[in-house]
Amino acid sequence: MKPATGIIDESKDLRDKIKTMLHDRKAILLAHNYQRPEVQDIADLCGDSLELSIKTSQTDAEVIVFCGVHFMAETASILCPDKKVLLPVFDAGCPMADMITAEELRKKKAALSTGQNVVVISYVNTTADVKAETDICCTSANVIQVAKSVDPSHQIFMTPDKNLAQYAIKHTGRNIIYWEGFCPVHNNLTVEQVRKAKSIHPEAPFLAHPECPPEILELADEVKSTSGMIAYAGSSESREFIIGTEIGMLHPLSKANPDKLFFPADPGMICNDMKKIGLGEILTALQTMQPEVKVPREIREKAKGAVDRMLAIPST
Ligand code: SF4
Repeated sequence: MKPATGIIDESKDLRDKIKTMLHDRKAILLAHNYQRPEVQDIADLCGDSLELSIKTSQTDAEVIVFCGVHFMAETASILCPDKKVLLPVFDAGCPMADMITAEELRKKKAALSTGQNVVVISYVNTTADVKAETDICCTSANVIQVAKSVDPSHQIFMTPDKNLAQYAIKHTGRNIIYWEGFCPVHNNLTVEQVRKAKSIHPEAPFLAHPECPPEILELADEVKSTSGMIAYAGSSESREFIIGTEIGMLHPLSKANPDKLFFPADPGMICNDMKKIGLGEILTALQTMQPEVKVPREIREKAKGAVDRMLAIPST
């Protein structure tokens, strides 16, 4: 039989099989906002990685099928240790998360700690090993509150995203030392591309994700996380918007606001890793119960501490 790919993956038959398997396995299907539209459309929950994991920890599902990238499945495993976490394509990774290892972070901490207290803030877009070496995590939505929560007498080191760190510096006034990592998708957006989009859609506010470089954020009408973009577009009186993040985001924005128009700041803002999972891979994962992502207990407990400290901060 021909493997289920392409158009066949999108057939009703395939979707029906997935739904049946989800029921039989007592599984829940999660999709990140950057996933392919057909994957988002069949998911039980869509959103950003952390909100998905938190919501899932409150369900009685026994299996989580996480349609996202590897660090997101790890976060689900950290927050839901009793559930089996499947990542339908095991090598769906995050180039930014892979820009720092736990060993590199340990060395950096040792170098910085001479004569001062250092607090490590890690973006949730990090591996579980890096989270285990972290004092407190942050998301793109709460990075400012997290940085402000750190004792002013302590030195902050932020990893891995240099752009998110510079955004936090600008909005907190804190002296933050940061790792020089970046998301290639957001970091490649140029001023020229944004200016061109604005000239084509002069009435549309430009919403930028804080993973974009500082010169792009300077051009933004609003700087928002993915969930922040959905909330903003829903309450705004504007009828059209320019979106400065991965183009998968246009799908949930359009679904939530069918009467509004969303244009990419650059149609080339595509994360290839986020597009690896299709309906065929989801069905295979449910049939085989593989590939599984499981964070070892010692790493999980340390990493969970960093996530829990973030969640304890009011309004994060
Ligand atoms: S869009 Fe950027 S941060 Fe998100 S998974 Fe892809 S490379 Fe990583």
